[in-house]
Amino acid sequence: MTHKTPEFEALNELSARVGADPAWVQAAGGNTSIKEDGILWIKASGLWLMHARQQEIMVPVALDALLGALERADPLAEQAQHFVVEELNPSGLRPSIETTVHALMPQKVVVHVHCVETIALAVAEDAERLIHERLSGFRHAFIPYIRPGLPLARAIAASLGEDTDVVVLGNHGLVVAADTVAAAELLLEKVTAALVTRPRLAPPADLVALEHLALNSNYQLPEDPALQGLGTDPA
Ligand SMILES: [Zn+2]
Repeated sequence: MTHKTPEFEALNELSARVGADPAWVQAAGGNTSIKEDGILWIKASGLWLMHARQQEIMVPVALDALLGALERADPLAEQAQHFVVEELNPSGLRPSIETTVHALMPQKVVVHVHCVETIALAVAEDAERLIHERLSGFRHAFIPYIRPGLPLARAIAASLGEDTDVVVLGNHGLVVAADTVAAAELLLEKVTAALVTRPRLAPPADLVALEHLALNSNYQLPEDPALQGLGTDPA
């Protein structure tokens, strides 16, 4: 480990917890970051948040240099790799393509997740209306789908209000930001709760009949009985 302030350690703990919940993060998706002493520490590309306790997953990026490049719309800003502080990055990690999103949020701690409850609304045709309805009590912004990298960074810069701390990315996911790790976690939980969709109850499956059908075949019943709803729900 190259960096060990208490907040940095707290973020690693939060990353591991968030990364272990498939309703928030799947595989190497999602990312967390913290800004300390002019450096944006962000989860490296390809690594898993859930491994934050066991291995170094954070890569240091020179924040002001990256923000300056974004401001000038310098094509170099497309790849945060150009702004890595190499002497603090002995294992040669590469920053996520979503680094610009984290850099543009002024708060110290940023958490970005591919939250299932968020995406369930953010893929809808009227996503913007649904999100505004659910998040009316939050200082939030909705950004229609746009390719990560410079285009997304520009759209975010244009839609951030002075104290926006919740951003929903169309077809994509959720970003929350706060000045402490604890506040970011609380905000993540509150926003997720506000976006929950209660699943429609599907009629139960006839498991005895299904087991009988599967006998002596290559088919088997799913471990999670909730999956039967895909077959029994009339819609
Ligand atoms: Zn993402």
